Amino acid sequence: MKPIQMVDLKGQYEKIKDEVNQGIQDCIDATAFINGPAVMEFQRDFENYLQVKHVIPCANGTDALQIAMMALGLKLGDEVIVPAFTYVATAEVIGLLGLKPVMVDVDADTFNIEIENLEKYVTANTKAIVPVHLYGQSADMEKVMKFAEKHNLFVIEDNAQAIGADYTFADGTSKKTGTIGHIGCTSFFPSKNLGCYGDGGALMTNDDELAAKIRMIANHGQEKKYYHKVLGCNSRLDTIQAAVLKVKLKHLDKYSAARNKMADYYDEHLKDIDAIEIPVRASDSNHVFHQYTLKIKNGKRDDLQAYLKEKGIPSMIYYPLPLCRQEAFQQYVEDGFSLPVTEDLCKEVLSLPVHTEFDQEVQDYIISEVKSFFNKN
Ligand SMILES: *Cc1c(COP(=O)(O)O)cnc(C)c1O
Repeated sequence: MKPIQMVDLKGQYEKIKDEVNQGIQDCIDATAFINGPAVMEFQRDFENYLQVKHVIPCANGTDALQIAMMALGLKLGDEVIVPAFTYVATAEVIGLLGLKPVMVDVDADTFNIEIENLEKYVTANTKAIVPVHLYGQSADMEKVMKFAEKHNLFVIEDNAQAIGADYTFADGTSKKTGTIGHIGCTSFFPSKNLGCYGDGGALMTNDDELAAKIRMIANHGQEKKYYHKVLGCNSRLDTIQAAVLKVKLKHLDKYSAARNKMADYYDEHLKDIDAIEIPVRASDSNHVFHQYTLKIKNGKRDDLQAYLKEKGIPSMIYYPLPLCRQEAFQQYVEDGFSLPVTEDLCKEVLSLPVHTEFDQEVQDYIISEVKSFFNKN
């Protein structure tokens, strides 16, 4: 058996090699490295796929979040509500811009922002909320949007982990995650569901004015070359990365289905282990399984991870420490501040390999080793 990886990018590449290589070769032949034709072509394809008016490509997902905050005209000291159970990028950019990240708890089943008890965090300075669609499943956007409307907040979706997922509203209409709030942000980091072969990211919006502002900010604050209206940054998607993404976008739905197949197979074989809670699938969103994340309820998560490692099976803990307990974020919280659900999840979650290249033999091996651990523990 070949070495097991969290994500099998090599196996995926083998199947699209000719097309990807041709796309890259075309960029080199045209020496169109910056803003070459593939960038605009991918942008159009992605707008069509997402059914959104504007996609603005940029250099990475963290930049996308930062540019979103800048485009909304937030001022020093403004507060932004963000879940504490997420990757650091979501909250980091808030702090970097002199805004205040207000970290809140998540739902224990879906791992996504808990809206029920949020009123107490709203102040006169609260200006935005950032739902993160963690592990590949949409946050409860019906509730997020209602809450935001009530308090007049901007909604920035962090869709780095759920590209391709659909959210269904109570009235039966569906939208792609990332196109529901004022601005959506995503990342094309190689291991993301739509990943390129380096760094990349994008913003999405249906608002023409915001789109123009985002474009300007990502391009040094200029609309006309050498005339700078606002302070911006330099954040572009490489043409070569756009060429890769153009090919991979065509396969995205198939990739999501393959991830679901692996997840279904894990579910079926792990659901009867007492100490394990398999991922809960929300009724209002499909799941694109960026991660397949178990909750290990008997306090032996770390032992399981060590055991699997010994057997050559990688696993990951996303995330081991709540944002509100990170050293870098102590300036934003009172001593002893704690979010109980996030706190528990950080001790329980374990993500198993899930990707687009289903291999029954490998997955059976992973499952049998998880079972054998719990037979002994
Ligand atoms: C990956 C990720 C980001 C950042 O993306 P980069 O392209 O690495 O900057 C932001 N938020 C979440 C939730 C992510 O998973």
